[in-house]
Amino acid sequence: MPDEKKKVFDVESAASLVKELRGSFNAGKTKSYEWRIAQLKGIEKMIDEREKDIIEALHEDLSKPELEAFVSEVSMSKGACKLALKELGHWMKPEKAKTSMTTYPSSAEIVSEPLGVVLVISTWNYPFLLSIDPVIGAIAAGNAVVLKPSEIAPAISTLLSKLLEEYLDNSSIRVVEGAVAETTALLEQKWDKIFYTGSPRVGRIVMAAAAKHLTPVTLELGGKCPVVVDSNVNLQVAVRRIIAGKWACNNGQACIAPDYVITTKDFAPKLIDVLRHELEEFFGKNPIESEDMSRIVSVQHFKRLTRLLDEDEVSDKIIIGGQRDENQLKIAPTILVDVPEDTEIMKEEIFGPLLPILTVENLEESFDVINSKSKPLAAYLFSENKQLQKDFVNNISSGGMLINDTILHVMTILSLKFTWNIPHIFSLYMKLMSILAYINLGTLLCIHRYLPAFMDTL
Ligand code: NAD
Repeated sequence: MPDEKKKVFDVESAASLVKELRGSFNAGKTKSYEWRIAQLKGIEKMIDEREKDIIEALHEDLSKPELEAFVSEVSMSKGACKLALKELGHWMKPEKAKTSMTTYPSSAEIVSEPLGVVLVISTWNYPFLLSIDPVIGAIAAGNAVVLKPSEIAPAISTLLSKLLEEYLDNSSIRVVEGAVAETTALLEQKWDKIFYTGSPRVGRIVMAAAAKHLTPVTLELGGKCPVVVDSNVNLQVAVRRIIAGKWACNNGQACIAPDYVITTKDFAPKLIDVLRHELEEFFGKNPIESEDMSRIVSVQHFKRLTRLLDEDEVSDKIIIGGQRDENQLKIAPTILVDVPEDTEIMKEEIFGPLLPILTVENLEESFDVINSKSKPLAAYLFSENKQLQKDFVNNISSGGMLINDTILHVMTILSLKFTWNIPHIFSLYMKLMSILAYINLGTLLCIHRYLPAFMDTL
């Protein structure tokens, strides 16, 4: 008997999938409050029952440390689901709108309606969270949805495909696994919304495909996130917060991770000394062997990063790190100083454990450096100087901005609505960790260790 070949997912399969899901949507299946709640409860149950499988798959794809996987993927996904379950009734309620004198005595209201059949294309760096979070949003809004996870995180992709089939209504929610060919087949179809997370390069492909059908898109892209460091700071605290945002979150493979640092020529030597000391405190003398850091996701990305490092005029600028191990796909936290602006490492988003430091005569010059590049997703400033803080906010345009910390603003967004859910507790925990950065690492590790036990008791 010849081996049964796995059916290729082509344009025809994509068309019939969309047709089937549109049938469900048009029949009104996904619109009711009850259906939405049932699916959201299904996701919550799935995360509760299969947490161990999710954490194992994250370890397989990225060597993501267990605590990091739990906090940044499992608990945040669960938090998003809980928030939707709690708020859905309120979100679905028509909103009163004002009318004018000319239409008196009429009344008006804004009624939210689902868009239809939604495509979610996801990425690999937070492969569970960044897949399930937009799916939760699509379901809560009453849509049918197709998820295309990233082929670069294959263990999570396969797990998502299996779990969504097992826990959710397959007549309206589906997963298509695959890479460029499968995504291209999906993009040829007419969708009612495309939610894409990934690189700006593919973002352009997605937007062009969507334009053919006038489909609205949300593009969650990347960029180079600067960190400006003034001399007027508690340097140890600032450095610990930079390390936490850069290497302790997926080893720099995060869209809001610090991409490069700008400081003054005079202050740079002090900053580098403290970085060297604190990096050793966090990850030991041989960081390649540290279990507290994710690995580089794939051979291609490992090669991309080492190519950035090995470029002429770059390799001789390494002052900390630079070690690599292709077998383990690990690169040590690597710091470079005054790399020329026209090198690739200064032009493209690094998305890995390399951190160039640029030095300037005075910090106001940093505004021109930052504004000469594409708008960053996040911009960070470490300074106690109130005037510099104001100038930074007024002169830099960036997706998000944070003074005297890194990456925490993502938690602020999640906590805008006060609810005692896991992201909110995590945000308080992160704040606590920031405060504890003043104390010593022993305390920090101790808190880390006890957090899961604390969460179990909630
Ligand atoms: P990518 O663009 O290579 O891949 C993302 C998705 O697009 C994958 O599902 C992939 O299968 C698909 N894809 C790849 N090439 C394609 C093509 N030619 N045609 C159609 N589809 C294609 O991005 P990536 O490497 O997975 O992710 C890294 C980028 O994502 C970084 O720029 C990072 O900053 C960004 N990112 C942004 C956010 C955010 O929330 N803004 C979050 C995480 C990552």
